[in-house]
Amino acid sequence: MLSVKNLYKKYENQPLLRGVSFEVQKGETICLLGRSGSGKSTILRIIAGIEAPESGDVFWTNQNLKDIPVHKRKFGFMFQDYALFPHKNVFENVAFGLKMQNLPFDLIEEKVITVLNKVKMQEFSHRQVADLSGGEQQRVALARALAPEPRLLMLDEPLGALDRNLREQLMGELRLLLHASNIPAIYVTHDQEEAFTIGDRLVLLNDGQIIQNASPEDVYQTPKNAWVAKFIGLSNLLEGVIQSTQPLIVTTKIGDFSVQTGLPKNAKLADPVILLLRPDAINMKDSNLNQFQAHVLDDVFLGNQWRVKLQMSDLEFSFLVDEPIPIGSIIKISIDPKQINLLQAEK
Ligand code: ADP
Ligand code: MG
Repeated sequence: MLSVKNLYKKYENQPLLRGVSFEVQKGETICLLGRSGSGKSTILRIIAGIEAPESGDVFWTNQNLKDIPVHKRKFGFMFQDYALFPHKNVFENVAFGLKMQNLPFDLIEEKVITVLNKVKMQEFSHRQVADLSGGEQQRVALARALAPEPRLLMLDEPLGALDRNLREQLMGELRLLLHASNIPAIYVTHDQEEAFTIGDRLVLLNDGQIIQNASPEDVYQTPKNAWVAKFIGLSNLLEGVIQSTQPLIVTTKIGDFSVQTGLPKNAKLADPVILLLRPDAINMKDSNLNQFQAHVLDDVFLGNQWRVKLQMSDLEFSFLVDEPIPIGSIIKISIDPKQINLLQAEK
């Protein structure tokens, strides 16, 4: 449906977007994920038509939107600060976009009621917005964005201003609402948990470029590089050099690792790589593969598992284990060769 092609954008001679391309398919919610300042909101403004790129295009199906003004694009927007009208009631807020379209009142009323039902706010129709809780205001904002039946919905960090409990609850609600609405959506966030909860697909932006564009499962299982791994919370990274390709052995400062997953693209003997040791990679059984000594720095009970922090050589790693391990002890661990990803070394 939507196709963004090769966007370039500079601010004050600083390149912000350096060839950004991605697509949104019918009914799909994608999460555009990147650090604060990486250009996410700028991409949304370009799609909305509020801002122009230096080069690159935005297409809806096969139509280039270059000369289509903002109000004719039929895209809906929802921002972090909602920008609801504080002195209007819920009904009037949701009806706002429809009134702009000069629709007859009966039709406006019908559409507002339908959409308030959708976000479970039908009973609040006459309440002043200022009297609603953060979560309720957020639902009204979503209703307002959905009311004109946009053909694409863009949400810019819509949960950013809320406290943690409410955020978690609304994340789940938004996920269901977005799926049920069947409107293609771009959800912008810098929060990986939100992205994993809400996105059918993740589009990861760093340094002006899309680093990875894949399902949440794929991103988690095979992060494209060390930046992606760190960004999604996989932080057990270790530099190495490919010592042998068959069998695959990688030398590191901790020792030699036997690896049973694939090589990064184009990697060959003697190349530098980054090893990602997955959180479930260790066990305490004796093994003739990847056995190392580790110093237990910390051990935190998580409910059904423990997160153990280990020091090996002068590096620290975190793993999930099924039993508590005494802090301060020296233990022997083995690292599953199937639970190691090899990533491209950073240049
Ligand atoms: P994000 O939404 O990922 O946090 P933004 O797209 O808001 O990132 O902004 C990215 C960078 O571009 C920021 O460092 C910001 O200062 C800069 N920027 C955004 N809009 C403008 C503008 N109109 N003029 C100058 N610099 C801007
Ligand atoms: Mg932003």
